[in-house]
Amino acid sequence: MLKFPFYVRWVSLKINIRNGRDTFISVKFDLSQNNKSTIKYLLDMKTWLRIFVFSVLLFIVLAGALLAGFIYKVKNGFPVSYDTEIPDIHFPQNQPAILLFSKATGYRHGSSIEASKIIFENVAKRNNWFVYQTEEGGVFNAEQLAKFKVVIFNNSTGEVINDEQKKVLEDYVINGGSLIGVHGAGDDSHHWDWYQQNILGAKFSHHPLSPQLQEAEVMMEAVRDTILTKDLPVRWTHTDEWYVFFENPRSKGFTIIYTINGDKIIPDGNILWLTDKNFGMGKDHPVAWYRLTGRGRTFYTSIGHDEAAWKQEPFVRLIENAIKASL
Ligand SMILES: [Zn+2]
Repeated sequence: MLKFPFYVRWVSLKINIRNGRDTFISVKFDLSQNNKSTIKYLLDMKTWLRIFVFSVLLFIVLAGALLAGFIYKVKNGFPVSYDTEIPDIHFPQNQPAILLFSKATGYRHGSSIEASKIIFENVAKRNNWFVYQTEEGGVFNAEQLAKFKVVIFNNSTGEVINDEQKKVLEDYVINGGSLIGVHGAGDDSHHWDWYQQNILGAKFSHHPLSPQLQEAEVMMEAVRDTILTKDLPVRWTHTDEWYVFFENPRSKGFTIIYTINGDKIIPDGNILWLTDKNFGMGKDHPVAWYRLTGRGRTFYTSIGHDEAAWKQEPFVRLIENAIKASL
């Protein structure tokens, strides 16, 4: 209840919204002492009330615009930029070359990308691999791409390469190249049918939000590919942002390597009232899978939201094995 000075007998505040278009406030008052300073005070009250209401409205509009902008960026990538300048790369002799592509125009998983760079350097050193790291798409030209054994979309989100460069990557995989995707590489910001069908095999729906990161037991499937599963634990515990897909890649001909029990996480991914995303993939919730595509291979894991993943030995080994299987 608002308290007013003694000289105000009553004050009523009325807010009318007409057809949702205009808002006005009327303040009615009746004074016991009709002097100038009281009127001035009340006029000030009226001004302050007006400022307060408009500030609240402005805040709501700005917060809405920021949220809308963020959702648009996450869904579509913004600003979309393509790089066509061909980089100068010195490919060392006798070292398999790996392209680590971490460009993000959608949601940027900064902590994961930064942590991964050091890990890839170490893994490359112990295996005598050459890793070329870039966030520019000019490298996606037929001549240079052919020199790489593996291309890694390292939390790459949004539309990051143009149509011509996409075609170069598709041909590269069909003709025997390997494409690996980590976490964000599996969201729905890429708008690229071939990519979705051949590396993911499923359309991304959402990720849990309450809480966003959840602990789960990661369980290995009975996989025949001994290179991929070498020295990997059958079960390990990890906390991550578990992506939910509309389809199960298992039914699309992909070989599943790891799953979690989807019934043991809270999959709710509702953002305010926008869409009802209170569903998960069910008990069989794959988190790592691969497939032969043409003469090449595609591998994807939804693990890797933040730097915690790169501190997990089984995760690093899984990526290392996926690269080895592609050489
Ligand atoms: Zn994420």
